[in-house]
Amino acid sequence: MASTTLLDCSYDELASRLTDLGCPRYRVDQVWRAAFADLAESYDAMTTLPASLRDRLSAALPFAPATIEREVESPDGQTRKTVLRLADGATIEVVGMDYADRATVCVSSQVGCAIGCPFCATGQSGFVRNLTPGEIVAQALFVARELQARGRRLSNVVFMGMGEPLANTDAVLAAIRSLNDPRGFGLGARSFTVSTAGVVPGIDRLGQEPLQLNLAVSLHAAENALRDSLVPLNRKYPLDVLLNACRRYLGRTHRRITFEIALLAGINDRPHHARAVVERLGNLLCHVNLIPANPLPERRDLRRSPPAAVHAFAEILATSGIPTTVRDSRGAEISAGCGQLRAHRR
Ligand code: SAH
Ligand code: SF4
Repeated sequence: MASTTLLDCSYDELASRLTDLGCPRYRVDQVWRAAFADLAESYDAMTTLPASLRDRLSAALPFAPATIEREVESPDGQTRKTVLRLADGATIEVVGMDYADRATVCVSSQVGCAIGCPFCATGQSGFVRNLTPGEIVAQALFVARELQARGRRLSNVVFMGMGEPLANTDAVLAAIRSLNDPRGFGLGARSFTVSTAGVVPGIDRLGQEPLQLNLAVSLHAAENALRDSLVPLNRKYPLDVLLNACRRYLGRTHRRITFEIALLAGINDRPHHARAVVERLGNLLCHVNLIPANPLPERRDLRRSPPAAVHAFAEILATSGIPTTVRDSRGAEISAGCGQLRAHRR
C-alpha cells in the first residue's frame, strides 16, 4: 500500500512518489532534507521549494499524519508530554526528557496495548490499533523541533511509550530506518532502544536486523507464576522461552540486553524476588534497570516500592555481579512517567 503521508515514506518511496509527480531527481534530496534535517513542520516551511510544488505536494502527499492537541510541562521544565491527534481522531502521547548530557524522546508504537499488564495505564485502555511509521516518526521529529528551538539536539529514541513495539515491528523498523537515514535526521542506530514485554519472534527478528539497535526486555519477575500475573504475555512466552530468545539475540549481536523491573511494594520487590532474578540472569550479558513503579489511580493495591526495598533489591543484584541502575522515572507529576500514558479512541 502506498504511504499516505510524507513522514510515512522511506527515502525510496518518496523518490518514486516525486517521480510520479514529474519532479526532477534532485527534489527528492531537497524534500527529504527539509523534513528530516531542517525539521520543517509543514510544506509551507520548505522555503527552498517553489510555492507551486509545495501546493502540489500538499494535495498529493499530506505532510504528517498527526497534529498537536496539547502539551504539558513538568514544574522543573525538564519533561514535556505532548498529546498528538491522529487522522482517525485517536490520540497518543509522546514524552521528551532533557538531561544534562542528552535529550531523549519516549515514543509510542500503538494506540493502546493488547498485553494488559495490570500496573500499566496503557494496558488498561485495551488495544486500538498499530501506529504507522509516519505516526512514530512524527513523534520524534516533534520533540526534535522543540529541542532545536532551545539549541539542543535529540540524542536517543526509546520505544517505551504506549504499546508493544514488537507487536508492530514492521512500522517500528521503518520509522527507525527513516530517522537513521544519513541523508536526513541521521540518528545513529545505537541511539534507539526497543522495549518489549517479551515478544519472542520480535526479539529473534531484532537479532537478525543489520541495524545495531538496543533491546530492553520488561522482566518484572523471574518466576513464572508471578510474571504470568504481571505480564500476561508470559503465558505465551514463559521465562525459559523468553530467556532462550535473549541468548540467541546475544549470540548474534553481542549487544548487552537491558532488563527492566518495575518494583511494586510487597509484590515483586522482596529479597527472594531479587535472588530469583540473579539465578535467571546470572550468566547473561545484561544490565538491570530498577524502576520504582508509578502508581495508577485505578489500582490502589499496586503501590510503588519504598526506597529501602528498592535499595536492598539493587544491592542483591549488584553484589552478584549484575550491573544495576535505579532509574528515576521522569514525569510522574504530569502523568508522563513509565506506564502512565493513556490512549484515547475517538
Ligand atoms: N510494551 C513495552 C514498551 C512500553 S512500556 C514494554 O512493556 O516493555 C515501557 C516500560 O514501562 C516497560 O518496561 C513497562 O514495564 C514500564 N511500565 C509500565 N507501567 C509502569 C509503571 N506503572 N511504573 C513503572 N514502569 C512501568
Ligand atoms: Fe503494554 Fe508494555 Fe504497558 Fe504491558 S507495560 S500493557 S506490554 S505497554
